[in-house]
Amino acid sequence: MAFVSEEISFVMIPLMAPGHTIPMVDMAKLLASRGVTVTILLTTLHASRFKAVIDRAVSSGLPIRLRRLHFPAEEAGLPAGCESFDTLPSYTLATNFFAAINKLRDQAEKILEEITPRPRCIICDRNIHWTAQTAEKFKIPRIVFDGMSCFSQMSIHNLYILQADNRIPETTPFLIPDIPDRIEVTRAQLPGAFNPGTLDMDDVREKIKASEGGAYGYIINSFEELEHKYVDEFRKVKGGINVWCVGPLSLCNEDSVDDKAQRGNSTASIDQENCLKWLDSWQPGSVVYACLGSLARTTLAQFVELALGLEASNRPFILVVKAAGEKQLQVERWISSNQFEERVQKRSFLIRGWAPQVLILSHPSIGGFLTHCGWNSTLEGITAGVPLITWPLFAEQFLNEKFVVNVVGTGVSVGSESVMHMGEEDRSERKVGRENVRSAIERVMEEGKEGNRREVARKVGEMAKKAVQAGGSSHLNITLLIQQIIKITKK
Ligand code: UDP
Repeated sequence: MAFVSEEISFVMIPLMAPGHTIPMVDMAKLLASRGVTVTILLTTLHASRFKAVIDRAVSSGLPIRLRRLHFPAEEAGLPAGCESFDTLPSYTLATNFFAAINKLRDQAEKILEEITPRPRCIICDRNIHWTAQTAEKFKIPRIVFDGMSCFSQMSIHNLYILQADNRIPETTPFLIPDIPDRIEVTRAQLPGAFNPGTLDMDDVREKIKASEGGAYGYIINSFEELEHKYVDEFRKVKGGINVWCVGPLSLCNEDSVDDKAQRGNSTASIDQENCLKWLDSWQPGSVVYACLGSLARTTLAQFVELALGLEASNRPFILVVKAAGEKQLQVERWISSNQFEERVQKRSFLIRGWAPQVLILSHPSIGGFLTHCGWNSTLEGITAGVPLITWPLFAEQFLNEKFVVNVVGTGVSVGSESVMHMGEEDRSERKVGRENVRSAIERVMEEGKEGNRREVARKVGEMAKKAVQAGGSSHLNITLLIQQIIKITKK
């Protein structure tokens, strides 16, 4: 498969958050499988989370090198060891987290100086804005990764234009302008740039946005067949800049049960064998998998509606319980005082902590995925060929919901109406009721009643798998990306 005749070296600098680091590590494996030597810069915590997967890749012969960054948590006013966005004790510390990231530049540049052969490009997360200056200093192209789809990129691009003209209505629903489909949203559903919470992130956002200008191109975790109109539009609005869709990235773990099980965390919170055995005991397409991502700080009120909606659905389900600190205690107290586990014991599997999501989704018993619509999870659900029950929470997740419900046609919304602002989780009232959860599950799981949603999901899942195979669009895009970088850095 490798076609690179000389040693070509790339550097990758992911953002310290699971939804950003996970696809970057997948990308490192993909590039390395094509012969590129990839040096990936990870903080100590992420290095340990990804150790098993990276060690396995290296021992199978892939040229991946891991270099550790010391994350200056305490210097930035964070607790020691708080090195990943999901470990923040409160999201009100988000600005401190970005301040710590800004202090990493010198360390990263020292590593870049040491790498041989000299790196030909940096693939970096959009949110690490100093990489723009680093790329300039080392005179190498910078390729930006942001973890969003082209649909969301395009929607956000046009929302910025609308915002500059002061044309985003405060409360009434409106159409996102100049995109190929009719997509209606409200301001309350939009990401922080258009719908800020009390946390002041303007300075962080502006620096990030300003740094995008000189990027040589974008890598997108998506595939052209899924959203080709949006890929074309995105290329156009970026002035014909390179946009390489190389996904679904999660599929690079397809051949290894261990890679799927340990993706994102060397130790899942459950025994994978038990989970697979439990899944084996159910009919194909009968189980609902419910997980609200890596960052969601589930409030008790939200958890109760989710849990009772799943119970009322009368379907077998896997529920990933993710709450932190005091909220976790409240959730556990509710579970035990209501004997929830005993009540649903015969048809449920509860996971507290980290779930082996891609392993679970690829099991044939999974028939629906209740997701918070983070783009990784959304695409993983699409790739698994299952319809989605959508419960967006924050960031661009409402846009991802619109995409699967209105464009792809494989999602059913639970009816969430507004974002849960970061750091204000405790203040948000109950947003979605159990009956909404139950009825969305019912609509997704009931065969045949509502057109061919399940069949569409199956077909799109097949398209996703074809895209990454030899001859597929994403496979070709990786070839083009490597060739392009070799060409422009030849001298
Ligand atoms: N994930 C996982 N197990 C969990 C929670 C999340 O494997 O218990 C993975 C999931 O498969 C996805 C990523 O973490 O790849 C979460 O990214 P996403 O964009 O969906 O949402 P975020 O967590 O960034 O909100």
